[in-house]
Amino acid sequence: MEIIRSIDWMKQIAREAGLAQRISGFIPTMGALHEGHLSLVREAKRQCSPVAVSIFVNPTQFGPGEDLQKYPRNLECDCALLESLGVDYVFAPEAAEIYPRDFRSVIHVEGLSEKLEGRIRPGHFQGVCTIVLKLFEIVRPRFAYLGRKDAQQARIIRQMVRDLNLDAEIQVCPIVREADGLAMSSRNAYLDPPERQAATVLYRSLDAARRKLNSGARAAAEILDTVRSTASSEPLAKLDYVELVDADSFEPVDFVRAPTLLLIAARIGGTRLIDNLSIENAGAPQDFSVSL
Ligand code: AMP
Repeated sequence: MEIIRSIDWMKQIAREAGLAQRISGFIPTMGALHEGHLSLVREAKRQCSPVAVSIFVNPTQFGPGEDLQKYPRNLECDCALLESLGVDYVFAPEAAEIYPRDFRSVIHVEGLSEKLEGRIRPGHFQGVCTIVLKLFEIVRPRFAYLGRKDAQQARIIRQMVRDLNLDAEIQVCPIVREADGLAMSSRNAYLDPPERQAATVLYRSLDAARRKLNSGARAAAEILDTVRSTASSEPLAKLDYVELVDADSFEPVDFVRAPTLLLIAARIGGTRLIDNLSIENAGAPQDFSVSL
């Protein structure tokens, strides 16, 4: 496995892979890798060769007062994990390499970027889209692997790929969870033991909604009430939002017709966590399946 620091060198490798008509797979990450990230790597390894992973804590997607400085960084440990999975290239540039002093361009996916996460974190998706476009240009993947954990991010990146005619094909992979349901996240490392216990409230709330759905509930008000009442039973949690939205437009829906997403964000102490439940079509129009 090669660890690459410079854009020029990564581009050179990508160019050679392209000329050899190889199917390159790519997983963009901010490091502090866990099983969620590794599941994306395994999926990429099944379909692609070579596989490249980027590790870059992207400053432009953090707002003022967010956790950029304290975001966990552990390149050595991350590289050991990636090497054990047979990754070919780790692209780990410095921030100054990616954003030189006179950097001026941004990518903004209108409409989708202002909702939900974008409402709470203004400019966040602009930072995400700009770095992802840059990384796609540098790494030139045929397939890029994203987690459904960040469902809005995946939807926005898909839109950017379509709008800008990018070559990368986006694959969205399932959410990997801890044994008690908590979605894996690098930010879980911030939680102290009582907060870690409380953090399961996101999963518990979505799971309560799943039970409602499976017992036939379809009205958004009823499903959202269930989520809110479960969430409010946890004193350490402060809900940022819970919304039931159309999976394409991300507009709120009154009534569940798949495909729909139930998205939740909450603060547990100083740590902000997100999770979601996906309602997908399954055969006949009225039939759907619920994925957590
Ligand atoms: P991050 O390092 O947080 O930027 O995440 C990099 C990629 O890993 C994104 O596509 C995330 O959606 C994905 N990811 C993070 N956590 C999980 C998880 N628990 N399950 C599946 N994918 C995840």
